[in-house]
Amino acid sequence: MKAEDVKNIAMIGAGDMGHGIAACCLMGGYRVVLRDIEQKFVDKGMAGIKASFDKLKEKGKMSPEAYTDALARLIPMVDLQAAVKDADFVIEAVPEKLDLKKSVFADLDKYAPKHAILASNTSNISITEIATATSRPEKVIGYHFFNPAILMKLVEVTKGGKTSDESISIAYDIAKKIRKVPVIVKKDSPGFIYNRVNEPTLLLVSKILEAGHPTPEEFDAALKPVMPMPPFELIDYVGIDIAVHGMDYFSQVLSKDYKPSEALMSYLKSGNLGKKTGKGFYDWSKGRPAIDLSKATREFDVNHLIALQVNEATKLLEEGIADDPKEIDLAMANGGGSPFGPFVLAQSIGYNVLLAKLEELHTKFPLDVFVPTKTMKAGNIKV
Ligand code: NAD
Repeated sequence: MKAEDVKNIAMIGAGDMGHGIAACCLMGGYRVVLRDIEQKFVDKGMAGIKASFDKLKEKGKMSPEAYTDALARLIPMVDLQAAVKDADFVIEAVPEKLDLKKSVFADLDKYAPKHAILASNTSNISITEIATATSRPEKVIGYHFFNPAILMKLVEVTKGGKTSDESISIAYDIAKKIRKVPVIVKKDSPGFIYNRVNEPTLLLVSKILEAGHPTPEEFDAALKPVMPMPPFELIDYVGIDIAVHGMDYFSQVLSKDYKPSEALMSYLKSGNLGKKTGKGFYDWSKGRPAIDLSKATREFDVNHLIALQVNEATKLLEEGIADDPKEIDLAMANGGGSPFGPFVLAQSIGYNVLLAKLEELHTKFPLDVFVPTKTMKAGNIKV
């Protein structure tokens, strides 16, 4: 099969991610079946897609003809067997639970045509593991979109242990056709690229809380002038529970260093999870917190965070998860946050400056995750 042969996409799960991914596929010209376990969930997903298209039409970014045409190619469905029977490409976005994903993939394997590629939008679960539920592991791939899928450009296309190059290449071309920025993740590995490179920042936050200083506001105030949303505020925004779950997962599969500190866990235990509960590190009851820049600490600056990112990005190269630093930069610049990837930043700031920052962090917090890699020390990556 070639990417041009793919006409029918089945989207399994019509939640936050599923409806957004389905909308992208419709805009790319595909016929899309949207499937969820109950009609009310399918209806909610359909309404979400329509609302996104309404907005695009109002803004003049979608013509009335394209709007009608796209919605005419959208087919809602609850019956799984019927939903995938003509699918060339299936994308799964059901809740992040291994057993559920495996049972969904076993069903997809049973009911989808033999040629169909089965893709998972999982954030963290191993693609190799999900593929064991099927008789076609060569056709199982990771297809990681970012939230909101309709706006965010990055799609991490991950090769599981048995995934064929053909499946990766088809998935890559489809991502291009729906106007995303695909980046190939060559080896199934925790957090793929984007989340892996960002995880050490969470670890730093957790350790700063444990140390008791600087305060979240003092830390964020030092970074706010150069970041749209500094780390403590961002964690509050996303949810402290989400951050803790991510760290728990990384502590199990990558390094024990990631075990969330007691100080971080205390927020979880008290139910202060950030924006969604009105309180976390900050008070959100009156909207976005006003961070007082005059409180900025001098102990940390943005180069500490960049040093952590660059160091983690060099691990991806050393571990063979990516082999081109430009691809890592592409992923980091399209997954959110900064417009620049870590290697471009390292080149302009200087590896020696960042290495000194990393060593400072490692002296304060002697963790394996903060140890500079060989590549970081050599400082000779050119992009
Ligand atoms: P969600 O809870 O909003 O949606 C999941 C949907 O799947 C629900 O509508 C649920 O009814 C449906 N579902 C449950 N079992 C099903 C089944 N057997 N068949 C079909 N549908 C089923 O979750 P979400 O945020 O859309 O996340 C889905 C996946 O995407 C997860 O693996 C998550 O890790 C990943 N992801 C989420 C984000 C994010 O920011 N939300 C970002 C990237 C990836």
